[in-house]
Amino acid sequence: MTRIAFIGLGNMGGGMAANQAKAGHEVMAFDLSAAALDRAAAAGCRPAPSAGDAVEGADVVITMLPAGPHVRAVYRDEIAPRAKAGALFIDCSTIDVESARAVAAEVTALGFRFADAPVSGGAAGAEAGTLAFMVGCAEADFAAIEPVLAPMAKAVIRAGDHGAGQAAKICNNMVLGISMIGVCEAFALAEKLGLDPERFFEIASKSSGQCWSLTTYAPWPGLVESAPSNRDYQGGFATAMMLKDLKLAQEAAAKAGATTPLGAQAEALYALFDRLGAGGKDFSAILQLFRGVAP
Ligand code: NAD
Repeated sequence: MTRIAFIGLGNMGGGMAANQAKAGHEVMAFDLSAAALDRAAAAGCRPAPSAGDAVEGADVVITMLPAGPHVRAVYRDEIAPRAKAGALFIDCSTIDVESARAVAAEVTALGFRFADAPVSGGAAGAEAGTLAFMVGCAEADFAAIEPVLAPMAKAVIRAGDHGAGQAAKICNNMVLGISMIGVCEAFALAEKLGLDPERFFEIASKSSGQCWSLTTYAPWPGLVESAPSNRDYQGGFATAMMLKDLKLAQEAAAKAGATTPLGAQAEALYALFDRLGAGGKDFSAILQLFRGVAP
């Protein structure tokens, strides 16, 4: 049994912490939200009065927080001052590469081990324990990190050194944002051309237009049963979240001097869609923008 401190018990962290408790670990949990803390307690975690209290005596600290500033502050003010010597820190939040590298440098200088390990798979994957983890860590630390993530994972892949996990995450989600827009534009054009969406889906699925956004997550309702398009775009991966990841990709591209014009265009389109009030809808609802339908 490992003693794990879990900080951040929201849509993602709640299910992830529950899976650690289910795997038989002692999970000390903390969130600023009392409701999130109550849910974690009901799932077998032990609520702590603060992040600092949660990490005391823990072998492993896992964080699942909204963004870079939260992660920097919690590691600097709460975790590093109270954690036991040599503890392993794993940040699963999606944050900017620069913050991940800065936190890694600060805590490894104090003798802790650190990994940035953002995830793919959404709240459903967090609950089911089927997330994909993209890990940025020292090569020597990966053997200790993999079994810790296993109760929450279907795949754990080392991307490279500190920051590489976040780099992999934003590159992957930039592909996803762009490919979903491409698929949505194609459906909107097919509709205007009088092509039956079902026939188009059947043909493109077996042609070179085939991709995850089409065949696993079709934005047109009635084609893929599990897709959010069949639930009025509720649940799934929110437009606001996609926008956050596309912004991170553009910030990283600007700093690194990379040329990502379609990523920039995707960010602009999701920002527009968000401003139209669709931030809480699944990102595949952007189909409506191209059909000229109010979200
Ligand atoms: P969320 O807003 O539901 O949860 C974040 C939690 O962190 C909240 O409960 C909040 O109270 C807590 N929190 C904030 N500051 C805190 C602090 N100082 N101390 C303790 N708790 C604090 O967000 P989420 O959907 O769970 O996402 C978490 C992270 O995972 C984000 O970085 C997000 O980009 C990433 N992510 C989300 C999804 C998804 O589908 N929701 C998928 C992949 C990655």
